[in-house]
Amino acid sequence: MEQLKNQTLLASVLIDGKGQQVFNPFDNSLLGTVAMSCQAKIEQDVLDLEIGQKAWQKKPAAERCRFLKKWHQLILENEDDLAMLITLECGKPLKEALGEVRYGASFIEWFAEEGRRAYGSTIPSATNDRTLLTVKQAVGVAAAITPWNFPLAMITRKGAPALAAGCSFICKPSELTPLTAFAVTELAYQAGIPKDVLRMVVGESAHDVGEVFTYHSSVRKFSFTGSTLVGRKLQMQCASTIKRTSMELGGNAPFIVFDDADIDHAVKGAIASKFRNAGQTCVCANRFYVQDAVYDEFIDKLVAEVDKLKVGNGLDESTDIGPVITKEAKKRLLDLIEEAKGRGAKQVNKDVQLEGQFVAPTVLVDVEHDRPIVQGEIFGPILPIIRFEHEDEMIAMANDTIYGLAAYFYSQDMNRIWRVAHNLEYGMVGVNEGVISTEVAPFGGVKQSGNGKEGAKEGLEEYLETKYVCIGGLER
Ligand code: ADP
Repeated sequence: MEQLKNQTLLASVLIDGKGQQVFNPFDNSLLGTVAMSCQAKIEQDVLDLEIGQKAWQKKPAAERCRFLKKWHQLILENEDDLAMLITLECGKPLKEALGEVRYGASFIEWFAEEGRRAYGSTIPSATNDRTLLTVKQAVGVAAAITPWNFPLAMITRKGAPALAAGCSFICKPSELTPLTAFAVTELAYQAGIPKDVLRMVVGESAHDVGEVFTYHSSVRKFSFTGSTLVGRKLQMQCASTIKRTSMELGGNAPFIVFDDADIDHAVKGAIASKFRNAGQTCVCANRFYVQDAVYDEFIDKLVAEVDKLKVGNGLDESTDIGPVITKEAKKRLLDLIEEAKGRGAKQVNKDVQLEGQFVAPTVLVDVEHDRPIVQGEIFGPILPIIRFEHEDEMIAMANDTIYGLAAYFYSQDMNRIWRVAHNLEYGMVGVNEGVISTEVAPFGGVKQSGNGKEGAKEGLEEYLETKYVCIGGLER
């Protein structure tokens, strides 16, 4: 970690002894080791945060806003170091990592400001002797579990609204990417956010931490980003104490190109949507549907662009696609390609086999709709394409999934744009855009992609209770 300009970022985190080892997916070299907490220690953390939350909640929103703005500023001042850490432990190209740092920081600035606008309301009473009102209050201790594909932004997208609302916040980052998480937490402490208001923990196992976060009655809110499989289990665990939950789970985003689309624009959007973080995001375009009349043109233009993409070390400036996160991920992706090819799918771009933890971008046509590559979440740089004729049949295929996170389509026809946007059963729809996430708009899915929203004004509500106050016995 001697590459870091700011050596304070990880000074109190890296240990020599036994702990969670963190590896670089580019070459599997050891980046460092961080301490692991046992369940009893994490339970104590929760109790500390319960006390800390009481004082934090009492601070005026304007004061919490100042702490958050300072944190935001420190993140931007350290953006090169944070981007480097993201690339080292997660593999994404440095330019994307820098984008993530800025995107992640934007949630802190946004919620610093939104926290000052946690308005309640007054309600006209049916009788003159009462005044009815609502006030917004912090939920209490909030706990979160975050994934490795956005080691920084998934933490700030949950932590910033929690802190702005007056909650305390404890988070378990992915064991694959804890360094960025600890570095960004250190900056929060340097900004003056108290240690009994914000904590980052790595447990002896993810399961252990999950148990404390979901079963402990002092945790009042649980927020998770990860797979639907794990989310489903954690949501059930949360039922034991009737916790508020937000679940950002898997996706299976359709990317639809209608025959009235601007094809050059659609190709650009497809590349941006599919290959970000080597295809390892829950909103990456997963399966492509292209209408008959533009099918050949779209594929020719797409393949020309895909074959220009450079796969390599995320630290090299020219890299477009970094390594995939683990050896197991690579094997799973190669198996998916084999399975599809075994059922008649054909690869139409350059077929390259890469050594190391890399998967070359792969464009497949003649893919059957019922194959795992279409039905499941790929989470890799594979782009399966299906030809379609009619809009109705297309919408039915797009909605034929347990997921409902993001969907994308390209069309220039205003009637179609409204109709299709309305008919897609997804929490987010990109029309003529392949990358749509922003701190000002609500991110979240429907169906088994989860519940709750992150970002926007809705993101703050996830950490607030609405309390109704009735003042009676009044004389008017
Ligand atoms: P992904 O496939 O993106 O890694 P996971 O759902 O496996 O998705 O992981 C997302 C987060 O959930 C990670 O922080 C991981 O450590 C955590 N996790 C995985 N299994 C469990 C579990 N049984 N209990 C609690 N957390 C878990």
